[in-house]
Amino acid sequence: MNEITCQFLVIGAGPGGYVAAIRAGQLGLDTVVVDDRKPGGTCLNIGCIPSKALIHAADEYFLMKEAAAARAIPGITAGAPGLDWAQVIGWKDGIVNRLNNGVTGLFKKSRVKLVEGRARFLDGKTVIVSGETGEQRITAETVVIATGSEPVELKALPFGGKVVSSAEALSLQAPPERLAVVGGGYIGVELGTAFAKAGSVVTIVEAAGEILPLYDADLVKPVRQRLAHLGVTVMTGAKAQGLAGEDGDLLVETAEGEERRIPCDTVLVTVGRRPVTEGWGREELVLDMDGAFVRTDETRRTAMRGVYAIGDVAGEPMLAHKAMAEGEMVAEIAAGHRRVFDHRAIPAVCFTDPEIVSVGLSPTDARAAGIETTVGRFPFAASGRAMSLGREDGFVRVVARADNHLVLGIQAVGAGVSELSAAFSLALEMGACLEDIAGTIHAHPTLGESFQEAALGALGKALHV
Ligand code: FAD
Ligand code: NAD
Repeated sequence: MNEITCQFLVIGAGPGGYVAAIRAGQLGLDTVVVDDRKPGGTCLNIGCIPSKALIHAADEYFLMKEAAAARAIPGITAGAPGLDWAQVIGWKDGIVNRLNNGVTGLFKKSRVKLVEGRARFLDGKTVIVSGETGEQRITAETVVIATGSEPVELKALPFGGKVVSSAEALSLQAPPERLAVVGGGYIGVELGTAFAKAGSVVTIVEAAGEILPLYDADLVKPVRQRLAHLGVTVMTGAKAQGLAGEDGDLLVETAEGEERRIPCDTVLVTVGRRPVTEGWGREELVLDMDGAFVRTDETRRTAMRGVYAIGDVAGEPMLAHKAMAEGEMVAEIAAGHRRVFDHRAIPAVCFTDPEIVSVGLSPTDARAAGIETTVGRFPFAASGRAMSLGREDGFVRVVARADNHLVLGIQAVGAGVSELSAAFSLALEMGACLEDIAGTIHAHPTLGESFQEAALGALGKALHV
């Protein structure tokens, strides 16, 4: 058996693992990263990137259809657009391939060795990797568990046949004529919207009282309105019971306790993801657990010295940028730097239509924490830029302490607001007060001005509303 010894070993080359490996390599640590998938993990291969490519493609097609139906800006007309979804999928796969190669190139540049195969721990310092070329034994001083997450399967709707997870949904060769989505969270609403724009008749079945239950009602309202405009049926408080009848309709118990059958060609189950904590020899280690996640401290160290866990396997939020930040941090710790993880300014973006952004505390979170707040809100209906873009739905909201005006949280919903997340996170990270944002000259006309106006509003000095 081939034997490798290194200083820094990473299990899993997703956003958490590949960033940890690159940073460790840059810092001069002798680094090995193991994965049996192409580098990039869930995010790059079957998550963030392919989903955003398809969301964009479906949006382009939808906007062309709107123009063809004379529903766009007066004066713009177009012929009926065509859609070859298989070609769109090919385009999406091309993007994923380029990024896979990009990560491989970054490994080479930072002298990281990529070992292809599945890793299994023998003890806290040693793993066996089984790959196509046989087995390798790797021993390391520091080990990082970055095994990510996988879709939750429903007992009543096991994956297979017409029941698919997000991974298969991202490679369908044509939009299903009738798509039933079980779970109206991030993936269900993002992909449900994309397929509706690509021509599918979409029904979203959500068990909670509202879709996107992580966000407050004000943020979700414009998304609900857009879904209605797109003809998407949303059933809330509803439970999927399984497939029924010869055609395999989706059987749903409605909020009122009635049974309903939803005819469908594909059922996309998106009821959450669970950390991958089995299959890599966890039983050989002495790790504490935090529910389904591997428990770590604020340096992402597990209960075992020299063993770290990062990304989706180490806890919420299960977001790529949180995994990357943790990856960078553990590499620096292994190289002797003093670092701890600060989770105050992790933005969350929902790539729905319109998009939702949230960083820090919402007004409800702040209230629950017993903090007296001042809240400013600026509607896009009063923004010249939003009007000129033809999308006036949504708003920016700033939450600050009432006493010293320290900004605690910022939220927005609106077309294209994902790009405002950088400004929002930076303000929070830098400890900005309302006066800092209100006193920053924002370029006109931009959506970003709405951030300044929301801060002015919280100070009782709004200019444009
Ligand atoms: P992963 O990306 O899951 O990577 C883990 C890697 O570990 C995998 O490549 C796996 O093969 C490997 N592995 C597991 N076990 C072993 C083993 N025993 N040996 C070797 N390798 C192993 N997040 C966002 O921030 N923004 C988004 O827009 C977004 N969109 C998403 C859309 C979809 C459809 C999905 C499914 C997820 C999305 N996410 C998004 C979430 C994001 O993908 C995850 O938070 C992120 O990938 C977590 O990174 P990670 O490194 O922890 O794990
Ligand atoms: P989610 O947690 O966002 O949503 C799951 C939804 O399913 C919830 O609304 C929940 O109430 C509902 N649900 C649970 N059981 C149900 C049942 N039996 N019937 C009907 N509804 C049910 O999970 P997801 O959409 O699968 O996404 C998983 C994770 O991936 C997210 O939590 C997020 O961390 C990450 N993600 C992030 C992005 C992004 O950043 N834009 C995009 C996609 C995924």
